[in-house]
Amino acid sequence: MTDNIVQLQTSTRGDYFGGCPTCRRTNGCVNDGPYHWFVCDTHKAKWNVGSNLFSSWREQTEEERFKNRDKLAKYREVEPVNDWNEGEVNSDNRPGQAPPF
Ligand SMILES: [Zn+2]
Repeated sequence: MTDNIVQLQTSTRGDYFGGCPTCRRTNGCVNDGPYHWFVCDTHKAKWNVGSNLFSSWREQTEEERFKNRDKLAKYREVEPVNDWNEGEVNSDNRPGQAPPF
């Protein structure tokens, strides 16, 4: 009975793996095979955090992998921001824009 429930991932503030450069948040990790991408669904942003760090990808079905790859293909790769590393944030890709808060 739970097959049709869509798991909505809530966005959280980016932490160890960084956050979206626009909103500093992330909707979590999407695996493309052994490669781990963190994403922001709001801004269709993705950033790679490495490969084979988590074993969860091994349990994914072919369908899940296909969906993930399809999703990632629509997102653009960005440089994530890390709050504790704020002085080194590269803001080259949003010149002149004030933070949204
Ligand atoms: Zn965002």
